[in-house]
Amino acid sequence: MARPAKLRCVAQLPNVGFFKPVGIPASVLQGIRISLEELESIRLKDLEGLEQEECAQQMRISRPTFHRILESARKKLADALINGKAIQIVGGNFELAQRLFRCGNDGHEWNVPFEAIVKKLPLSCPKCLSGNIQPTPLPQFGLGRGCGRRFRGGRWR
Ligand SMILES: [Zn+2]
Repeated sequence: MARPAKLRCVAQLPNVGFFKPVGIPASVLQGIRISLEELESIRLKDLEGLEQEECAQQMRISRPTFHRILESARKKLADALINGKAIQIVGGNFELAQRLFRCGNDGHEWNVPFEAIVKKLPLSCPKCLSGNIQPTPLPQFGLGRGCGRRFRGGRWR
């Protein structure tokens, strides 16, 4: 039996999940599917401009694995742009990075997904509503204490 694919750490979910070229009837429109971890590889390498080694560490995978994911992502996007195909961002095997926050009042600790932090920092403890909260120190590379929400086989687990 095949070993389940190792989950890749993803820090952000995209705002848009579907791109479609203008003027092509749906009946003849072709599309490519790009996974969330493929998109994350593009974000880290091509948008953030990180070195491959840093990208691999952020996604918690080996450098060769990162390279393979990045190449696959670039090839799909190039195919879509050159040949006028729709792009669907869907699925993958990944964990969503999250960051641990701690309440200075009652010591309550809770995780906040990275995507939520990007939109809005938490302001108060969900338990006692104290505003005396702090993110716990980051172990490395700006990501929280591991990843949390798991997406595998087409759904959140
Ligand atoms: Zn509290």
